[in-house]
Amino acid sequence: MSKPRGRWKTDVPDAGLENTVFVLRLLPFFVGTGLIINGVRLRGRLRRLDTAPASGRPADPEHEFLLAEGVTITESARRAASNFATRERLTVLDLVPAGLPVERTLNVARMVDTRTYRSDRMARGRGAFQALLVHRSVLERAGIEARDDIDRIELVAITEKLKRYAPVSTDLAVVDGVTPAPDDAFRRLKLQRAAYKYEPYRTYLPNLRDTISFIGAVVTFPFGLIVSGLYWLQPFFVCAGRVPIQPRDLYMSPLNRILTGIDFMVGSARNGRRAKAAKQAAQAAGVPLDPAKEQAEAQAAASRDRYQAEIRAGVENFLEPVQAACPWCGSPSLTPELRDAPDVLLRKPGRFTYDRCDQCDHIFQNPRLSVAGLDFYYRDCYDGHHAGLAEEVLAAAVPAHRERAGMLKPYAVPRAGLDVGGGHGHFCNVARDVWPNTTFDALDTSDGIEEATRRRWVDHGYRGLFPDLGDDVDGRYDVISMFHYLEHTREPFLELDTAAKALVTGGHLFIEVPNAHSPAASVLKSYWVGWFTPQHQHFIPADNLLVALRQRGLTPVQTQFGAAHQSGALSLAVFFLLMKIAPDPKLPWLPTPPSTWGKVRRALGVVAVSPLFVVAGILDAVSQPYFTRGRRATAYRVIARKDG
Ligand SMILES: [Zn+2]
Repeated sequence: MSKPRGRWKTDVPDAGLENTVFVLRLLPFFVGTGLIINGVRLRGRLRRLDTAPASGRPADPEHEFLLAEGVTITESARRAASNFATRERLTVLDLVPAGLPVERTLNVARMVDTRTYRSDRMARGRGAFQALLVHRSVLERAGIEARDDIDRIELVAITEKLKRYAPVSTDLAVVDGVTPAPDDAFRRLKLQRAAYKYEPYRTYLPNLRDTISFIGAVVTFPFGLIVSGLYWLQPFFVCAGRVPIQPRDLYMSPLNRILTGIDFMVGSARNGRRAKAAKQAAQAAGVPLDPAKEQAEAQAAASRDRYQAEIRAGVENFLEPVQAACPWCGSPSLTPELRDAPDVLLRKPGRFTYDRCDQCDHIFQNPRLSVAGLDFYYRDCYDGHHAGLAEEVLAAAVPAHRERAGMLKPYAVPRAGLDVGGGHGHFCNVARDVWPNTTFDALDTSDGIEEATRRRWVDHGYRGLFPDLGDDVDGRYDVISMFHYLEHTREPFLELDTAAKALVTGGHLFIEVPNAHSPAASVLKSYWVGWFTPQHQHFIPADNLLVALRQRGLTPVQTQFGAAHQSGALSLAVFFLLMKIAPDPKLPWLPTPPSTWGKVRRALGVVAVSPLFVVAGILDAVSQPYFTRGRRATAYRVIARKDG
């Protein structure tokens, strides 16, 4: 027995090592294939770029030019761009210099899908970040001033904003006569980090490729070297020949790629010198170096003071007296469903309990938050501190919005739609693709609704509570949607009454709410995203909602569980865990002000939960078929028709 065992012991590591080496040897082939496929993709994107032809006609005086610092533009380039924009009915045109440096050109191809950019309402605004032509009316709506010395990082934010203000009249075109701003590896990295603020991995993916190529080059000489060669020559097969951009540094690009580290260090040193000079100049002149930053810091301090004062006064004062009966059916027989649940997302102090009615299964917050309490817990969630993040989260719901619009399609061709709880107007914006001739209004309590109006994503934005609209909207809409809205309201019956009145006869009400009767709710407890403590007030069982609709003359025509399922519950639970063990130290309601320890703790927390994210992601994907069967979904949808 001992002999084979000994052999067994020595064989295994050898086999393991051999397998590892085999896999490592294959790496360069994967990277090489990836480089070629990606090159073809990028070349296709560049080839589809339009070129603004030279024009003898004068530029439209309504067209303003926004230039990054260091960019120059000739008069003929202005004419060409303006006439191209007019012809193509564009209100925002990103001018891509015909001689854009090669690495910047590749970044344009990586960031913009030139085939769909113009028609995709929700595509993120990106471009060459050199020069923009913008129609004056769009600039006015967006509150942006035309200048010719815009910081390029600022131009990234402006480009993103303008695409939202002109969702289907924004595009890129190559223009001769625009001289690009100076470029180096350091500036490129800064620009990429700004453009990929919410997808940081995209900035660093090339590092992964380079690391793999390096390992490959060591293990599999000379194939690894061939892959590195492919990388050095990539600019040629992307940019050479029939591509509208002709980078001036194309022939130097392999050398520049080899020397990119040096380019980065030179750029970094130059940037350091410039920052130092700017600081000295500001000190000499006695003006703040970065007024915007100082203003933001003052705002953060004021916000912190306000929160700390409210917390000292006692957050328990935000709760109303405990209710003795079910608000849905009046039964006094209640059982606690969720006890002492925290604010899982924001980690504002306070504990919340939800009761289940033994009679009708309705689940509700008890004691519930007062109006002042709701203000305290909603503040900085969809606006203020988290405005940027909220925009990302709301944009992530766009595929679901497309699905919802598709679900409504067989029932109605609406003339006037109202999205109640419409947030920043994402559903209305998406629905315009389905019904281009419909007017879409939206209502919300946050200031996002005003932004939605300025963007023209909604035709009319109401800010306030739905029942407060009163008789003004009676019989005005043929489609009313409430997506993940009813659970936030204090009096769902009142909301349904208002919806029934605001609909025309034959009009449709579309409701989607979380399903607290899903197994995910009982398994994940307070970590289930659907509870969304403390914002959610009511969890209405589907059968109860159907009855309430019928009582108001609304006949349910479709009820859906499976497709309404919102996946990712486990990944979000991991995120809530991260917020518990290591919250973002900048949050103004935390007991301690931002500190280095807070930052370290956050970073350690992110590292610690990262493997859990991977596991949770896999489990979320694997459990999808289980949840989409029967009534297990984490949400459900109802479409009801108002009968005369
Ligand atoms: Zn009840």
